[in-house]
Amino acid sequence: MVAMDTDLVRVLGPKTAKVMADQLQLRTVRDLLRHYPRRYARRGEMARLDDLEVGDRVTVLAQVKSVSTRRMQQRRGTLTEVTVGDGAGSMRLVFFNNRHAHLDVGEWGLFAGTVGLWRGDKQFSHPDCHIMTGDDDDWARALVPIYPASKDVSSWVIQKSVKLLLDDRSSLEALLDDPIPQPVRDRHGLPSLATALVYKHRPESTAQVEFADERLKWDEALVLQCTLAARRRAAALEPGIERPRRRGGLLDAVDAALPFSLTEGQREVGEELAGELARVQPMNRLLQGEVGSGKTVVALRAMAQVVDAGGQAALLAPTEVLAAQHARSLTAILGPLARAGELDGDPAGTRVVLLTGSQKAAVRREARAAVADGSAGIVVGTHALLQEGVEFADLGLVVVDEQHRFGVEQRDALRAKGTRPPHVLVMTATPIPRTVAMTVYGDLETSTLRQLPAGRGGVSSSVVPVRDKPAWLDRAWARVREEVAAGRQAYVVCPRIGDLEDGGNGKAADDDGPDDADGAPPEEEEKGGSDRRPPLAVLDVAEGLRSGPLSALRVEVLHGRMPAEEKEARMRAFAAAEVDVLVATTVVEVGVDVPNATVMVVMDADRFGVSQLHQLRGRVARGRHAGLCLLVSEASSSSATGQRLAAVAGTTDGFELARLDLETRREGDVLGAAQSGRRSNVKLLSLLDDETLIAEARAEATALVEQGGGLADHPELAAAVAALAMDERADYLEKA
Ligand code: ADP
Ligand code: MG
Repeated sequence: MVAMDTDLVRVLGPKTAKVMADQLQLRTVRDLLRHYPRRYARRGEMARLDDLEVGDRVTVLAQVKSVSTRRMQQRRGTLTEVTVGDGAGSMRLVFFNNRHAHLDVGEWGLFAGTVGLWRGDKQFSHPDCHIMTGDDDDWARALVPIYPASKDVSSWVIQKSVKLLLDDRSSLEALLDDPIPQPVRDRHGLPSLATALVYKHRPESTAQVEFADERLKWDEALVLQCTLAARRRAAALEPGIERPRRRGGLLDAVDAALPFSLTEGQREVGEELAGELARVQPMNRLLQGEVGSGKTVVALRAMAQVVDAGGQAALLAPTEVLAAQHARSLTAILGPLARAGELDGDPAGTRVVLLTGSQKAAVRREARAAVADGSAGIVVGTHALLQEGVEFADLGLVVVDEQHRFGVEQRDALRAKGTRPPHVLVMTATPIPRTVAMTVYGDLETSTLRQLPAGRGGVSSSVVPVRDKPAWLDRAWARVREEVAAGRQAYVVCPRIGDLEDGGNGKAADDDGPDDADGAPPEEEEKGGSDRRPPLAVLDVAEGLRSGPLSALRVEVLHGRMPAEEKEARMRAFAAAEVDVLVATTVVEVGVDVPNATVMVVMDADRFGVSQLHQLRGRVARGRHAGLCLLVSEASSSSATGQRLAAVAGTTDGFELARLDLETRREGDVLGAAQSGRRSNVKLLSLLDDETLIAEARAEATALVEQGGGLADHPELAAAVAALAMDERADYLEKA
């Protein structure tokens, strides 16, 4: 009797089991059953032989039309030529030395190989072939499953192996512990796991495949959502410390000091946060709001409330530049309130300290001491703050700013920071599609700032296709000169710093941006990048501009390799309008706030991700003046890349862009290794298409976890959730 955990050795024998394990990471019966066909071949329809290109690796379903074997003239041995066709086209197969000389005209088979060219004709050289014999019931099927295969494990070896497992239907039902409880299946009209697997691996119609897919996606969604629901529940059961609002303290002083009145959205979200901070149960909230919607003030008010209640608040930024800017602007808003303990400080206030990796040892030591003894109520730093064992006297609130993906592990690390878990507020400017909010951020509640403060100029964007329209680039620099002449400033953004780097492998290699905030566009990997020129670099572009179109302007550079003080000084000079044009890496992507900057030219714009571009241009939409963002790219406007850029230029609707972003990335990238599991739990589920299913699974998961004995009442589901958690832990350890 085999079980899901049975080693494939026992079912398939040592030889097959070994290659499956080595090449496809399939080790157990469960692994194999969850190794789904990539697609299905159909008789007569699938093989578009004529459309194949040389170099394609494909499996075609076709009929043998002719077979001829002859002696080779220059070499010893025989050559067998086989012509196969599928009604729509035909192709030559070539074998040496009587391999497959026995093929008979009229037989149908699956042929897998790489398409090559011989005397102008397309051919397969000694492909793998699998002839469908009369008694091979696979052949009776309308749909032949094609599996992700490897060098030594062909699609049909997998098919045969799966068949072994699925053939005995009655023992199959017994073998498969169905992780989805019967009532849930009934409510959503889902087949049993056994039925779904039979339909998926050996379908008789596409309707069966669809039925199976729905059910198998539910497996993925439900396990994921149960994991998150269990996490939410665990967090809810672990008490934090309430930080209720106190009148006459720092928060009131902040409100009095603000040079503007809050937008309605800021006020509403502020109330929401104030209420949650006042509770013992730790807040776990995601605040999303467009670039410039004023999230910082919302965070500052929450931090002030916590300080008033005797706790400390930490504000984490993805880059040192941004951390320094936050520290500066908080200190400016708070004025004397940020200098408690100093001569001119307000004793009702607190201290704001900055803690970053590049600070001088003495400065750092002093800052750490102030954090440890509690005299610093507000601590600003980069994410490194969490890893470096900085001790807090009483950490009450952690605000994470502008991080595209602040994963579950980081949040867990955070909760371990205080004696009791702190309240957590994660802020993001990239609107998050609901599906992603329900998965990546599935253990957080969400608030949204929809409104921008009044009086913003907004930003318009255009693509500058330098291949198609070289003259437009001159026009772009002319626009920069015009803006500067009108008293404004400009950014020029490049994907790379230049000089000392590895010569550029095509990736937007840079230690400036937030870690994996945003994958490079996927085309990058497929092309390997080797035949592309390296991305444009800050140092080169700045040089070219100084000696070329912007020679009359004050051009300076900013990038992550500069020492921290220099970066700071450069930013300050730009903010003070002592610099006209700042040529920078994505170091300016997040949160840098210079309202007088109105133009941004992004070089090699195609090397940036969608949400990265959106973030970037947010830098020139901050002030009263209308902003302009020019996306310079060599991509032709008809290519997929060109169209992606056009779409970015064409809308500022964050939700549309978030969707576009999702389209260009793979599920695993979005979910992160942790949530998709090492042996990816998410194979069929699509964050783009399965919103309803994910929402339903979330509701069922919440109910399952919270009712009665929780997951303990559903051992199969609990086992699947535990297996995912194991994977996560393994991942975490690997990364550590
Ligand atoms: P983001 O949400 O992108 O982090 P910020 O918090 O940096 O936005 O705010 C952008 C700018 O808007 C800042 O200069 C900030 O001082 C200003 N701001 C914030 N709230 C308001 C408001 N209610 N009215 C006017 N200006 C505001
Ligand atoms: Mg911000």
